[in-house]
Amino acid sequence: MKKFITIIFLLLICSCTKKSNYDYTIKTIIEENTNTVIAINYPITNIVKINKELKKYVNNTYDTFLKNYNTISYLDKKHELNIDYTYYNLDNHYISTILFKHISSTDQSLVLNEVFNYVYDIKKQKQIKFTDILEDDEKDYIKSLICNLLVDKYSSSIDISKIANIDYENLNFSFSGEYVNIYFEGKSIANNNNILEINIPLTYFEKLQNLNIKKNIENVTNYIEPNINYIDIEKPVVALTFDDGPSKYTKEILETLKQNNSNATFFVLGNKIDDYSDTIIEMYNMGNEIGNHSYNHRWLTKLSEEEQREQIDKTQDVIKKYIGTSPIYLRPTYGSVNSKLRKNTNLEIILWNVDTKDWKYKKVDTIINNALKNVKDGSIILMHDTYQRTSEAVKILVPQLIKDGYQLVTISELKEVQKIKNKLNEKR
Ligand code: ZN
Repeated sequence: MKKFITIIFLLLICSCTKKSNYDYTIKTIIEENTNTVIAINYPITNIVKINKELKKYVNNTYDTFLKNYNTISYLDKKHELNIDYTYYNLDNHYISTILFKHISSTDQSLVLNEVFNYVYDIKKQKQIKFTDILEDDEKDYIKSLICNLLVDKYSSSIDISKIANIDYENLNFSFSGEYVNIYFEGKSIANNNNILEINIPLTYFEKLQNLNIKKNIENVTNYIEPNINYIDIEKPVVALTFDDGPSKYTKEILETLKQNNSNATFFVLGNKIDDYSDTIIEMYNMGNEIGNHSYNHRWLTKLSEEEQREQIDKTQDVIKKYIGTSPIYLRPTYGSVNSKLRKNTNLEIILWNVDTKDWKYKKVDTIINNALKNVKDGSIILMHDTYQRTSEAVKILVPQLIKDGYQLVTISELKEVQKIKNKLNEKR
């Protein structure tokens, strides 16, 4: 008996230490108003101090943006607010978070890019500044290195006279796999509105040398071919589609689909894939389809051709890294399409014809009814796997649709069924 207790005790210790205490989830806010579109993604960590600062920044930005731009004076043009982030836990010693804020108007008369930076020392339990990671005797060397890297990378756009005035103590910086990344707002040292970024290897900093530095994760290649479901073309089909994920709610939705032998299509954001790679692999292996919904939910139709391609291609690449293949469908952000976007991508653009409005309505019943009252054979239903309420709605909606005679299929399967039906109709 004593032995048994010891084993249980050991198991408990193991399961406790295995889990990282410095994990995080992503908070997503995506909405479309009369005069504005908003897409915000930022990390919620396990550290109250970090969350408080990030939340304060996001809430202030959101409120100010709506107050300034969701007004009657801008009826002729829309404004976009986008907040993206990076998060990195460096060997359970430092946590770095960076928020990138972008505001612009449809006509590009306004373009604003800003960086908000919070780096936390877990051991000292406080925020640190850039100069805190420098030893006294390396300060001059690191400063000249930063200047050289900036001039090397941005020689054409940089204002040399402004480099002398760089405030090193308050530099925006973050950690990533092997680098310290430093960010400058273009307005402060260049004559543009971009964010300038340089990277210095972590090993260049004396204080960071003893930390356990992880190399970038290698590409995952052990994916399997997905299940293929049998579809009866005599029966009606419907495609559930989920935008803006993956999120912490996605796995629950996958479980509901699995229990009901059904599949759906997930139009994912590229910047979330690395954090939810196991969700993506599971999603794909279960026979669901993965589509592209841009990298960080920028308003695609408003971007330059180069920016559009970057948003789409970066997402294609990061999906391929985990499932070995890239999407063939694109769902444009805010459902907004124009000829420039169509010409600029090989992906087929997929919109929807039934909107559950789950981003707007908080009641599960309303979301379900919005789907059920409009659904018919061939419908594409829009939902978002970023809400608990959507996951709850799916638990009722999926069995109800099946009861009503629908087969729940992916976009590719829906297209295939429609093709076969058209051919049969031609023959008749
Ligand atoms: Zn979206």
